[in-house]
Amino acid sequence: MNKTIIVSNRLPVNLKLKSGKFEFKASAGGLATGLGSIYKQGENLWIGWPGNAVEENELQQEISTELKKLKMAPVFLTKEDIELYYEGFSNETIWPAFHYFTQYINYKDAYWDAYYEVNRKFCDAILAYAEPEDTIWVHDYQLLLLPMMLREALPDATIAFFQHIPFPSYEIIRMLPWRRQLLEGMVGADLIGFHTYDDMRHFLSAVGRILGLSNESGYIQADHRLVNVDSFPMGIDYDKFANAAISQKTLTKRKKFKDQLGGQKLLITIDRLDYSKGIPQRIRAFDRLLDQREDFHGKVSMIMVVVPSRAKVQSYKELKTEIDTLVGRINSKYSTLNWVPIHYFYRSFPFEELSAFYSMSDIALVTPLRDGMNLVCKEFVASKTDQDGVLILSEMAGASKELVDAILVNPNDISAVEQAIVAALTMSDEEKKSRIASMQSSLKKYDIFQWVEVFMDRLAHVKQKQQEFQSKALDRNIAAEIVSKFKEAERPIVFLDYDGTLVGFKSRPEDAYPDEELLEIVSGLANRCEVVLISGRDKETLGKWFENQKVEMIAEHGVWLKRGDQSEWELYADVDDGWKDDIRKVMDYYVLRTPGAFIEEKHHSLVWHYRKVESGLGDLRMRELFSHLKYMASGHNLQVLEGNMVLEIKRPDINKGRAANSFMRGNEYDFILALGDDWTDEDTFKAMPKDSYTIRVGYDYTQANYNIKNPTEVRKLLKQLMGSK
Ligand code: UDP
Repeated sequence: MNKTIIVSNRLPVNLKLKSGKFEFKASAGGLATGLGSIYKQGENLWIGWPGNAVEENELQQEISTELKKLKMAPVFLTKEDIELYYEGFSNETIWPAFHYFTQYINYKDAYWDAYYEVNRKFCDAILAYAEPEDTIWVHDYQLLLLPMMLREALPDATIAFFQHIPFPSYEIIRMLPWRRQLLEGMVGADLIGFHTYDDMRHFLSAVGRILGLSNESGYIQADHRLVNVDSFPMGIDYDKFANAAISQKTLTKRKKFKDQLGGQKLLITIDRLDYSKGIPQRIRAFDRLLDQREDFHGKVSMIMVVVPSRAKVQSYKELKTEIDTLVGRINSKYSTLNWVPIHYFYRSFPFEELSAFYSMSDIALVTPLRDGMNLVCKEFVASKTDQDGVLILSEMAGASKELVDAILVNPNDISAVEQAIVAALTMSDEEKKSRIASMQSSLKKYDIFQWVEVFMDRLAHVKQKQQEFQSKALDRNIAAEIVSKFKEAERPIVFLDYDGTLVGFKSRPEDAYPDEELLEIVSGLANRCEVVLISGRDKETLGKWFENQKVEMIAEHGVWLKRGDQSEWELYADVDDGWKDDIRKVMDYYVLRTPGAFIEEKHHSLVWHYRKVESGLGDLRMRELFSHLKYMASGHNLQVLEGNMVLEIKRPDINKGRAANSFMRGNEYDFILALGDDWTDEDTFKAMPKDSYTIRVGYDYTQANYNIKNPTEVRKLLKQLMGSK
C-alpha cells in the first residue's frame, strides 16, 4: 500500500525541555489541522525539523520515539544548520527576494552551501521511510531543492510542492546566483502549487526564461515528465474560528477586554514582526488619521499585536526599534488619561484571546507590503459572526484576490489607507453586513480541508495525465516493431513533416535549412521507400532545399505537390485568396505593435510569426490577435490555428490530412509511418488508416499513436529504418 509523506521545514509540534524531559505539544495551526486528514491516516507520516538543535544521540532517540506516536519523524539540524540554512539562506536570501525586498538579500555562498546540504539531509531522512511509489508533498521555500533530489532517488514517486510565500517576478529571481538550481529543484515535482495566479505566472515565466522550458496552460514539459503548475489559494479552518467566536471562553474574555476599553471603535492589527508586513506604514496612516480628524480622538483605538520573529536578524532588530519609536511617539502625542490610541503588544497570544480580539474589533487593518496569502484577514472575517465589521486589506496580499469585498488598499499609499479607515468607521451597517457575508460564504466553502482535497485531487489528475503520455512514449520495443514491419513491407511510405520534426526551430525560419546528416537520411530513406515531405513551408524553399532528391513534396499544408520524378510543382488544391487583404491589414496592425513579429504569406494562408518577440509579450499579442482573427474568420469562412510560435489563418478545407489522403488514394501501402510535431500534423494523423504508425514529436496531447522526444530521436529512428533494408 503506498503511503503519503508530508514534508515541511518545521514539524507541527512544539518541544519543550521541562526538568530534563521533553514535552510534546501538537500545533493547532490551520495547515497542520488541514493536513491532519492526510498524515494521521494509515502508514502516512509528517517529516520535518522538530524545532530544537538536539545533537545528543540519546535525546534524538527519545524524540524520535515520541514523535512516532504523533505520526511524525524528525530531521535533526545542528546549530550551524539552523544558522546558515534556516536563518541564513531561507530567511535572509529567499525570504527578502521573494517578498521584493531586494535590499535585504544576503548573497552568501556559505548560506547556499548549507541550504543545499540541509535539503540533502531532508532527502536522506525521507528516503529512510519512502517506498518507490509513495506520494510526497513538500512544503515551502526552505525546501526548494528537495523535489528534484527526491525525483532523482525515486523516479516513480508522486511528488508535490506547495509554496506558501509569493513567487516574485523574473526580474527578481534572475538576481539570485542560484536561480537555475532553485528552479530545477522545484520542477522535480509533478505538481507545483502557489497561492495566486500571479505567483504561478511569475514562476512559469522564470522557468521559461531561465530553464528554457515553455508551458502550455500551466503544463511544463520537463525532460520526459509533464509538470503541472497551478494556483490553490489556501483557506483556514473556518469553523474553528466561527465556533470559537461564540464560545463561552471567548465571550467571557471579550467582555473583560471591552469593559477595560470602554465603548471605543477598535482597529485590530496582528502580524509577525516582519518588514513585509508594512507595520510602520500602517502606524503612520493611523497617525495621519489622528492628525487630521480630531473628532476621532478618544473614540478609536488600535490594538496592535506584533509577534516576535527572527529577532537575531539585523533588519528585524531595526524594524522593532522603528515600531517602538513610532508607537511611543503617537501615544505620547495623543493619549489622554482615559484614552490610549495604540495598545501595543510585542508577544503572541493564545487562541482564545486572539479570537476575542478578532470578534470584538470593528475593523481589521491588514496591510502587508507583500504577503503570500495572509491568514489573519481570513481569521478576522470568520470570527465576525455578528457580521458587524470591516476588513481593510492590502492589494499585495494573496488573500486580496479572493476577498474582493474588503476595502482594498495600496499599503504604500498612506493617505488611501487613512481614507479607508475613515470609510470603514463610517460604513453603514447594511453595507458591512453584505460585504462580510459575501466573504464569509466564500471562506466557508474554500476552507483548509477543501484546499487539501482540491490539491490532492489535482495531483491525482496530473499523475493520470502523465500516465497517458507515458503509455504513448515511443520506447525501444515499439521502435523495434516499427523497424521490423518496415523491413518486411513491400510498399512502405513515410510522411515527414519538416520543422520541429526533422530539424529544431530557429529564430529565423530560413536558418532551419537541412544539414548534411538530414539530407543523407532523406535520400537514404527515399531509396528504400516512398518519402513524402509534408510541410507548411512555401514551395520555393522546400524545392530549393531538396532540389536533387528523389522525395515527393507537399508544400503549404497541401496546396502544392511535387513528385520526385517531376521538376514542376502542381497545384494540389483550389486556392481562393480574396480574403487576404482584409486579414493582412489586421495582422499588420499587430506587427506594428509587436517588435519582432512578422507576417508570412502563403498561397492559401497568412501566418503571423512571434518567435522573435520578447517572451510574454508575444503570447499576449498572439491571444489578442487570436480573438480578433476568430471574429473576422467567421465572416470569411476561414480557420484560425495556433502553431508553434505562429498564428495561421487559412481556408479550413486545405490541410495536410486531406493532401496525404489524396496522395495515397489508389495505392496499396503495407507500411505507413507519419511523423509531425504540431496541430497541422494532427490532420495527417487523423487521416491515416488504422494500422499506420503515427508519431508526434514532443509530449503534447495528440491523435498520434506515439510521442517521441525531439528531432534527434526522430533522426535516430529514421536511420534505424534505413539500416534495416
Ligand atoms: N497568530 C498566533 N498567535 C498570535 C498571533 C498570530 O497564532 O499571537 C497566528 C494567526 O492566527 C495566523 C498566523 O499566526 O494564523 C499568521 O499567519 P499569516 O499568514 O497571517 O502570516 P505569516 O506569519 O505566516 O506571515
